[in-house]
Amino acid sequence: MAYPDTQLFINGAWRDAADGRTLAVRNPATGQEIGRVAHAGRADLDLALDAAARGFEVWRDYTPAQRSVILRKAAALMRERADAIAAVMTQEQGKPRIEARSEAMAAADIIEWFAEEGFRVYGRLVPHRSDITVRQMVIKDPVGPVAAFTPWNFPINQVVRKIGAGLAAGCSMIVKAPEETPASPAALIRAFEEAGLPEGVLNLVYGDPAEISEYLIASPVIRKITFTGSTPVGKLLAGQAGRHMKRVSMELGGHAPVIVCEDADVDLAVRTAGRAKFRNAGQVCISPTRFLVHNSVKEQFAEAMAEVARGIVVGDGLDEGTQMGPLANERRLAAMAEFQQDAVARGARVLAGGARIGETGNFWQPTVLSDVPLDARLFNDEPFGPVAGIRGFDRLEEAIAEANRLSFGLAGYAFTRSLVHADLLTRRVEVGMLWVNMPAASSAELPFGGIKDSGYGTEGGPEALDNYLNTRAVAVANV
Ligand code: NAD
Repeated sequence: MAYPDTQLFINGAWRDAADGRTLAVRNPATGQEIGRVAHAGRADLDLALDAAARGFEVWRDYTPAQRSVILRKAAALMRERADAIAAVMTQEQGKPRIEARSEAMAAADIIEWFAEEGFRVYGRLVPHRSDITVRQMVIKDPVGPVAAFTPWNFPINQVVRKIGAGLAAGCSMIVKAPEETPASPAALIRAFEEAGLPEGVLNLVYGDPAEISEYLIASPVIRKITFTGSTPVGKLLAGQAGRHMKRVSMELGGHAPVIVCEDADVDLAVRTAGRAKFRNAGQVCISPTRFLVHNSVKEQFAEAMAEVARGIVVGDGLDEGTQMGPLANERRLAAMAEFQQDAVARGARVLAGGARIGETGNFWQPTVLSDVPLDARLFNDEPFGPVAGIRGFDRLEEAIAEANRLSFGLAGYAFTRSLVHADLLTRRVEVGMLWVNMPAASSAELPFGGIKDSGYGTEGGPEALDNYLNTRAVAVANV
């Protein structure tokens, strides 16, 4: 199946790196090199910075209606091309084609929503305290050129949440997309290019992530940083941004608790959490990871989860019927082996899976571990893989304390038929997103983001636009 090489997109043109450097792209299902991606150096970044500075001068003066026409065209192109984009994404990322297709389709929804929301960036008039003729205005305008850094688990979704909001707000952008999965984000950027986005407004680079982020964050052209990825890298970039007094939003790691109360619909919990746990091979920042189950239903829940795990069809995402693909890169296999060995050495029981599949490709069995001790790495570090850890509890307060024990605060889930329990969970579980008796249902119109070490600056809802806007006060007196 065809797979394209990926170039840089700078100032409206696709180009190789100035020094011709490239990196290999591998299919995680086969380990084979399938293409190359251009590796930007300083000279390319300087061009991108110049382009973003000039692009901003043009785009800031488009009206929301004019921006919306272009955004809507880009959304339509994404829908038209969803099948072709899915085939490319599956080859570079590994997820089943149906999931890749829905990611491309969802991108169109997100772009359209922001195209509309751009109309609702309002300022206000505030009466002056002593002179009725003075107009005091609160103005919202775009923050300026943005540097956006995105990871490989949702190669399109992670980019579109940033550029949907940023472009709708009137910012120009330089996106540093993931080197592991470069072609599908490039297809997204191409949709904007072909929709008529003026040159320089959107630029795309790949290369050495640390080198690029350090250079762009320090540049006076860049006014805002947005990053999705792990908490340690997020803290590093937020520190650099702080030194240069740049606006920041961070969508970082999570370790989502799933609290199953004694009055839960256990079948619903298993169906919902089972599907969510193994989606994208668990490489999802809101993936359910710490299953805290009331001891009266723990064995029933654990056995049913193991049954779900054993039934999952694992394979190449291009194959019809595959429900879970490989891990996106080889280092995640080593990480899974470490989580597994550590948990078992500390006393966890393996109910399903627990090993690599075969020798080719990055396949790891859907895994369920029970009685995971609190000091196991699995209950402390984000697993980011197809591993479910289960523990029992007796009192809901105990489960809530465990849910809040870690410094993460991204997503949480709970299952209960009691309104009293649901209310307590709503008030006390420290997460940016909580779903009760249902799977995660994220959409452009809902906030998406975390609290505590999971970051700040939501990527959904009207608040997402605020990330890309300055709020200024201007007063005009008549003379
Ligand atoms: P990592 O911490 O090395 O990298 C995470 C992401 O940050 C990657 O996309 C990487 O290219 C980028 N990155 C790393 N250093 C950077 C820097 N100095 N400047 C700019 N970008 C930088 O980890 P990894 O092995 O790629 O992924 C594993 C971990 O990352 C997981 O355990 C998970 O916690 C986290 N992760 C989170 C998300 C998310 O959606 N929040 C997505 C992917 C990875």
